[in-house]
Amino acid sequence: MDANLYLWIILGLIGLSFIWNEILDYLNLKAHQQPLPEELKGKFDEAKYAKSYDYHHTNYRFGLIQGILGLLVSLAVIGLGWLGDIDSWLRGMLPEGSFWLPLAFFGLLYIVSDVLTLPFQLYKIFVIEERFGFNKMTPALFVKDKIKGYLLAAIMGGLVLGILLWLVDWLGESFWIWFWGFITIFSLFMTVFYSSVILPIFNKLTPLEEGELRSAITSYARGVDFPLDNIFVIDGSKRSTKANAFFTGLGKRKRIVLYDTLIEKQSTEELVAVLAHEVGHYKKKHIVQSLVIGTIQMGAILFILSRFVMSPALSTALGGESYAIHLNLIAFGLLFSPISMLIGIFLNRFSRKNEFEADHFAASTYRAAPLSEALIKLSEENLSNLTPHPLYVFMHYSHPPLIQRLRALSAHE
Ligand SMILES: [Zn+2]
Repeated sequence: MDANLYLWIILGLIGLSFIWNEILDYLNLKAHQQPLPEELKGKFDEAKYAKSYDYHHTNYRFGLIQGILGLLVSLAVIGLGWLGDIDSWLRGMLPEGSFWLPLAFFGLLYIVSDVLTLPFQLYKIFVIEERFGFNKMTPALFVKDKIKGYLLAAIMGGLVLGILLWLVDWLGESFWIWFWGFITIFSLFMTVFYSSVILPIFNKLTPLEEGELRSAITSYARGVDFPLDNIFVIDGSKRSTKANAFFTGLGKRKRIVLYDTLIEKQSTEELVAVLAHEVGHYKKKHIVQSLVIGTIQMGAILFILSRFVMSPALSTALGGESYAIHLNLIAFGLLFSPISMLIGIFLNRFSRKNEFEADHFAASTYRAAPLSEALIKLSEENLSNLTPHPLYVFMHYSHPPLIQRLRALSAHE
């Protein structure tokens, strides 16, 4: 295909994806604009419900402004061939055929886009989250996180990209099989060590303290044969009052992580129910299934990428004077975006099914009522949208909306 056609397809996709996302956000905001659902009357704090609309409305306006500016910048950068200009500029500074060119290109792009979005990142945390009482982040912590984030991106991104470039250099189009092998091992490694290596860079994880909660959890965990050493508390409170819990890892490195903010707000029974839900994710092998799906999907994407990775027309489409693998990778990512969207829909659907399964596990091995209570409290505290638009849920929700989960749980009572 010729470069001009690629360029128009890419610009069209950027425009369409903006319009589509704005329509979804708008529908979702409108769906939120209704009285508290009948089934939650008396169970859900009315004041929190009103506040949740305010919160989402504020985020909607913020997202709209950010979306419009993002659209204009993307169209300008791509349409005017600025990526090609950056490529030419870097080529002038590096020795001919340098291995470092793509790494420098992506590094520079990472920094520029982070600097451009910095005002939005700051406004979101220190104005919006602050106004709604969520923010606990200090400017000093923000800077620390930023530095750590940059270092992590340089090490991880540099490693993955470096291996990819080396394989493409060496094997051409058949790079994909070897890179697939590498990325599979890498993801496995990241899944296993996430909570013991990556997470501690940003947060402190401590084993659950002795006390009422630990004894209650002990008796439940014994009953379902889940080792107690794998339950940790994370200091989420240093950034936000929002609460959460999650399951991560594999084998001996599996962990259930409870936010300190969750422990602070929920009763012992509710916490055991939340933990039972997380144990459900483990017992139903959700992490292993996600890894398998991710691996298959990665193989398919890499195979398709291998058909495009050497094509000079993709580089030219982005304004490059000649073939450049980094321009091709970006063009491929943009052309591939509709398929990424479909994959996202599938993965979210899979994740929502898993959430129902984990709820079901908790209700069968513990009880449904405290889990319902815990979920209601979580939605209240996190100012969740109780009535999201079905299309928005279909596209973006990794968890089923509260009401659906409560209905499924009430079948257990
Ligand atoms: Zn879950």
